[in-house]
Amino acid sequence: MARPHAVVVPYPGSGNINPALQLAKLLHAHGIYITFVNTEHNHRRALAAEGAAAVRGRDGFRFETIPDGLLDADRDAADYDLGLSVATSHRCAAPLRDLVARLNGAAAGSAGGGGGAPPVTCMVLTALMSFALDVARGLGLPTMVLWGGSAASLMAHMRIRELRERGYIPLKDESLLTNGHLDTTIIDWIPGMPPISLGDISSFVRTTDADDFGLRFNEDEANNCTMAGALVLNTFDGLEADVLAALRAEYPRIFTVGPLGNLLLNAAADDVAGLSLWKQDTECLAWLDAQEMGAVVYVNFGSLTVLTPQQLAEFAWGLAATGRPFLWVIRENLVVPGDGGGDALLPTGFAAATEGRPCVATWCPQERVLRHRAVGCFVTHSGWNSTCEGVAAGVPMVCWPVFADQYTNCKYACEAWGVGVRLDAEVRREQVAGHVELAMESEEMRRAAARWKAQAEAAARRGGSSYENLQSMVEVINSFSS
Ligand code: UDP
Repeated sequence: MARPHAVVVPYPGSGNINPALQLAKLLHAHGIYITFVNTEHNHRRALAAEGAAAVRGRDGFRFETIPDGLLDADRDAADYDLGLSVATSHRCAAPLRDLVARLNGAAAGSAGGGGGAPPVTCMVLTALMSFALDVARGLGLPTMVLWGGSAASLMAHMRIRELRERGYIPLKDESLLTNGHLDTTIIDWIPGMPPISLGDISSFVRTTDADDFGLRFNEDEANNCTMAGALVLNTFDGLEADVLAALRAEYPRIFTVGPLGNLLLNAAADDVAGLSLWKQDTECLAWLDAQEMGAVVYVNFGSLTVLTPQQLAEFAWGLAATGRPFLWVIRENLVVPGDGGGDALLPTGFAAATEGRPCVATWCPQERVLRHRAVGCFVTHSGWNSTCEGVAAGVPMVCWPVFADQYTNCKYACEAWGVGVRLDAEVRREQVAGHVELAMESEEMRRAAARWKAQAEAAARRGGSSYENLQSMVEVINSFSS
């Protein structure tokens, strides 16, 4: 049997690259040959941020690149995300097809010669990459799709069509966007999900335009995922039992393999690469070492969230009012219009008011930070990776969702799992301070967070659901090449 060869193609944002890389490392640790496909732009960024060693690859794990189809002039646009989605879906199919042909050509050329890559036997994609599903289909390659969000968010996105049919969306007029309608319209018929407000389904339903690009794109992409041979989710069965049962009733081929970080820790997988797009500040780890257990408030809004200067100031003064030490990651493009990241953006007088308490970084190794004994709570935008990493680390969360599935993640963290407390959309310093106090002090939240952490660890151990699902996933991939 030839060695199985999976071409892994993530959507080119950190929220998809990170879990795809973790999954790729796990598959590699199980003997599968990996070609990990970056966009040229991200490859250059990772090279700059992490150095050549990170993207060099190892035996049986290589990196390749394709263009992302975006013009350089569009990279700084306010609607960069949208542009990237359009560009990848319209312009990346041909380069990806050529790449697979080249890999197979090289494999044929080196047949029997030893050392070369085996022929490609399957493609592992992330969500938002339907064009790559079409490419794989055209090449006769089996596929698996890693959905970058929770099981609940997948279920919610898969019900967008029904929300249209039942007349919930598009919203009838602009006033419904702002007058509480989104909060008070309760959807109580989604299988496996508790009653959820319309606004918590996804930011993409917040539109009056039936053809809104974000709505259509995300609706189609969620539905297209289910065309893959299997769906892979970075969650674990105990965390989302009801909605997973409902999803599996519709799509039986679902592998829950989360938290991926836990599986990686257990697998002691070869650390073949890091693909951070920003230079990581590891000095914050030394700063954390010097703090007391559970004393630090950790604040990070992920790779995409953008704050106004006013919102930044409200968070800043809220943190100042807690009187606690805090680690705050202020990405270079966190604030628009921005002037670089870091503490240069903080309000006048803030440094004096918080002297000795903050550590400000522009990007950090988040999983290591969250698992550090000094971290007592996590102020987060509720991106799925961050949420899952927070659950895995057993850290209570202060949630401020702003985009996409973050509302759903926040709802589950606060209501279903009891590990979070939600900030209003309008950031107010008093509420920031109050919610941080709650997350730091609540015995109930701490106990719930510890329970989920233990369950996440159990899921990733031999005999646990995620551990066993990964083995099954590997068996299926192996079967493609027999
Ligand atoms: N991340 C990181 N360092 C940072 C901020 C984020 O390593 O300073 C990682 C984080 O651990 C997570 C990903 O970037 O894996 C962010 O994904 P998420 O789904 O939370 O949010 P997004 O960036 O997609 O909004």
